[in-house]
Amino acid sequence: MSRAAAIIPAAGRGSRIGFKTPKTFIDLGGRPLLAHTIAIFAASRRICLIQPVLPRTHLGRFRSGILGHYGWSVCRPAVAGGRERQDSVAAGLRALPEDIEYVVIHDGARPFATTALVERVLAEARRHGAALAAVPVHDTIKRVSRDLFLDGTVDRRALWLAQTPQAFSIGLLREAHAQARAAGLEATDDAALVEALGHPVRVVPGSRLNFKITTREDLTLARMLVGRTAGNALPRGCARARGTGSRA
Ligand code: C5P
Repeated sequence: MSRAAAIIPAAGRGSRIGFKTPKTFIDLGGRPLLAHTIAIFAASRRICLIQPVLPRTHLGRFRSGILGHYGWSVCRPAVAGGRERQDSVAAGLRALPEDIEYVVIHDGARPFATTALVERVLAEARRHGAALAAVPVHDTIKRVSRDLFLDGTVDRRALWLAQTPQAFSIGLLREAHAQARAAGLEATDDAALVEALGHPVRVVPGSRLNFKITTREDLTLARMLVGRTAGNALPRGCARARGTGSRA
């Protein structure tokens, strides 16, 4: 089977959560948030390499505090991200070896995705070239004016919330990033860049538990959830042992 890598963009400053430390290193049930996220990928035999992307100022801390501690053999030292998420993913793409054929992009700040979801999205990307996890919108959606009055109700029937993981054939994603750079297009996910090429993107039903930790409320929720979700919790050293097996 063709080789697939994961890129984990975690180079955001986490300014909406209001901590000085990047949220990657925030404690979640006894280990750093990013360690939860990486464990999801380290547990998959379909992923042969994990490339985290962190703020330049925190590359050393990642190496000693996370990589050194958990010892995942499939996880590489982090590379430095850029100003926007798109720049960080591009930095991850540049760091991948030539023989990678598929890539899964997953936000560092989504520690409750599952290995099964990653593998479902990757399988759909192998079939269609591009796929993402998403969930249908259940709430009523309002447009709201700047001075906080309702300005219309949006028909939610065709609306889904985009999540990560998102997976792509690597040639397609490189082309989408190159075109976006040339056109000055900025987007908050990679699927939008592939859509801009006119290429179809397959939707895989995700999970509401796979939320992105953005605010302090999200963090409170995450701390309540951690340990209760089935999962990817790998004790120290376990991932190293698994990581030495043959990977597709
Ligand atoms: O900013 P947003 O919440 O969309 O970030 C989603 C993911 O992208 C987070 O894991 C964040 O750390 C990452 N990111 C990044 N580089 C940036 C901005 C965000 O890697 N410049």
